[in-house]
Amino acid sequence: MPFENIVGNDKIKDLLTETINSGKILHSYMFIGIEGIGKKMIATEFAKMILCNAKNQSKPCLICKSCIEFLNNNNPDFIEINPDGNSIKIDQIREMQNKILEKPIISDKKVYIINDSEKMTKEAQNSLLKTLEEPPNFVVIILITSNENLILNTIKSRCTKLNFSKLSKEQITNILNENISVNLLNASEGSIRKTTSNKKK
Ligand SMILES: [Zn+2]
Repeated sequence: MPFENIVGNDKIKDLLTETINSGKILHSYMFIGIEGIGKKMIATEFAKMILCNAKNQSKPCLICKSCIEFLNNNNPDFIEINPDGNSIKIDQIREMQNKILEKPIISDKKVYIINDSEKMTKEAQNSLLKTLEEPPNFVVIILITSNENLILNTIKSRCTKLNFSKLSKEQITNILNENISVNLLNASEGSIRKTTSNKKK
């Protein structure tokens, strides 16, 4: 099973697995949902599957060069962009664009993940738009966001949007593998991150 270690959002995991099996991987995705429900974990696993060199498998083989380098956090075809301070700046997007035309090194694709993508400045978003309009055919871009309202409609319309669900109380209890009070679960609104940070209070 792909995504076997990730709890929740089964429909999305099924859809992404189907995408890999059919080979119909699209150029740009937007993963939308509150923080702490596994968006980034699922995106990272999806990236590993896209880049795996053993084709026709519904999960990463974990033994090809791409998978091994991925597990070592060293796969040059996997690029993550994170906020620099409070925002993702236009220079970061320009740096990405300077290299985006370079062919993949290990795989036949390159995957970019933009974390907290609502933190892109307006200039950064406008600049990214040009790439989303004409991405190189070997590039897949995954934008992750907990607040799509801060993202330009022109960007959203270029992405395949996947809406992630909150985790159920049972799922959170399973992941943390301990008894958690109902009050705490209620206060945490389906987010693992909130549950763990509320627990410390
Ligand atoms: Zn592999």
